Amino acid sequence: MANRIPIGSLVRTQAIINRYFVKAKKNLGQNFLIDQNAILGIIDAADIHEGDQVIEIGPGIGSLTEQLLLHGAKVCAYEVDSSLPEILNNELPAKIGDASLKERFKLILKDVLKADFKNDIGDFFDFDKEIKVVANLPYYITTPIIFALAESDLKFDSLTLMMQKEVAERLEAKPGTKAFGPLSIAVQTEMNVKVALSVSHNSFMPKPKVDSSVVVLTPLANKPEIEDRKHFNWIVKMCFSQRRKTLNNNLKNLIPDAQKRADLIAGLGVDPKIRPESLSISQFIKIAKTIPAMKNI
Ligand code: SAM
Repeated sequence: MANRIPIGSLVRTQAIINRYFVKAKKNLGQNFLIDQNAILGIIDAADIHEGDQVIEIGPGIGSLTEQLLLHGAKVCAYEVDSSLPEILNNELPAKIGDASLKERFKLILKDVLKADFKNDIGDFFDFDKEIKVVANLPYYITTPIIFALAESDLKFDSLTLMMQKEVAERLEAKPGTKAFGPLSIAVQTEMNVKVALSVSHNSFMPKPKVDSSVVVLTPLANKPEIEDRKHFNWIVKMCFSQRRKTLNNNLKNLIPDAQKRADLIAGLGVDPKIRPESLSISQFIKIAKTIPAMKNI
């Protein structure tokens, strides 16, 4: 009976909070969704259908998880808060169609940054089939999670992620704009970026200070050739270590020799005083390719 009102409604969330004495943990980025339109907007953006395999990051008290299950997905969720499994087991629907919750839902109590997807979920998911990631991400580690997903050896078919609006702007930023940086480059060299919907800070409990966006990332059909993804992301981060300084300045730690730096920048065919945010993605790829060859300088 209690399951009739969705978890992601103000009334039900409040009831769960009272029943289990839940205190939203700020240090874990706990802002629970209490807006059914936003939740269904995420389900719609992720295009969830019967039989989909979904990895959810941070199920919280289950508002999004519940709708993923009710829309037919099999869900494997990573959560770090050890007080939440009891709530999820009690509050998520015990039966989804003919299946039991256990058949459709697996909770992994683990920091998602330490996830070993293939080992963790190999017994639950079929890796020959599509895997989607869906999450209302904890704000304090949004960027590391996106980097970890982009660098993961498990290839996802789509990532539908709710994040701070400002982070979404960085994901879709183009060269020459203020928001363009390592995150934009790491993601745009792997995936298409589409901002699917905006969600007001009023849709959460407790209310965060900022609004959010839901971003859908799907693999690029033609990915640029990047031999060593971790090396590439690291080189890009080094190029932006002091965003206001020139590329030449930022490269000093990597290439102490001034002449070699000048040669590298000349090879890109750009102004020697160029700042990192004005370079194109293919120019970053060229820098990353050149630098291992210069390691013993
Ligand atoms: N999905 C729920 C919702 O939409 O209401 C909760 C979203 S809340 C913004 C983020 C969730 O991520 C919290 O439940 C939090 O405990 C969890 N979390 C925080 N850090 C995590 C980590 N490193 N790995 C996995 N989950 C984490």
